[in-house]
Amino acid sequence: MAQSYRNITPQAARRIRLVMADVDGTLNTGGDDLSPAVQNVINRLQQSGIMVGLVSGRTDPMLVRMAVGLGIGGPLISENGAVARLTPDGGLVDLGYSRRPALKALEQLKSRYPDRIREREDNSERLIDVVFWAEGIPAGELKKGLKDVQLLDSTYILHLMPKGIDKGKTLLKLLGRMNLGKLGKNEVLVVGDSMTDLPLFKLFPLSILIPNPNIPAADSRILRKSSMYISDHEAGEGFVEVASHIINVRT
Ligand SMILES: [Mg+2]
Repeated sequence: MAQSYRNITPQAARRIRLVMADVDGTLNTGGDDLSPAVQNVINRLQQSGIMVGLVSGRTDPMLVRMAVGLGIGGPLISENGAVARLTPDGGLVDLGYSRRPALKALEQLKSRYPDRIREREDNSERLIDVVFWAEGIPAGELKKGLKDVQLLDSTYILHLMPKGIDKGKTLLKLLGRMNLGKLGKNEVLVVGDSMTDLPLFKLFPLSILIPNPNIPAADSRILRKSSMYISDHEAGEGFVEVASHIINVRT
């Protein structure tokens, strides 16, 4: 059960070498901008020797733009784990995933619900997953009859992706290949707000949940049960208070 981030001990904080942050609902509440306070605390993390990376459902080009703007050097995991690069200026890592199952499932849904499935324009920038809105159709109903794909609801948009891909598994794959040398799970802090972050919380012991009022109560209970720590504040401010605590107790 998630406890206050204030319980992160100096010893645990000193072990952290990489912070992997989700974006929407964690660093901001959507849009391309991060508050000056978030930008500032990310700089301070880096100055204290902690590398910062992003792990999000957003596209790779969007994360690269954000990372370059922030001046961060850590890994970028986009499309909820389907696409990754070790550094913002490095090439894409070959994770061996195909977009075929997601495209096929989208066509199935379009023929089942004509006029109610709306694709988002950034699908043209996506390599593996497909994003869409399904006006008023519950996720449970959408899932029926879909094979080989998973349906994820980030609370911002619905994602269709081949089964078996998640943020946690992809981050684990990257750890062995980092420039920092091999990183252990205890040296990574993961921060997120929604069910797409659950695999990160399950695989990495140092996990922070940022409360998100838009998450359904049942999901929120699961997230609180599976994460180690929780912030007091929501997106943006919540990240700043946790990162500031870590920087302060390290010294
Ligand atoms: Mg999120």
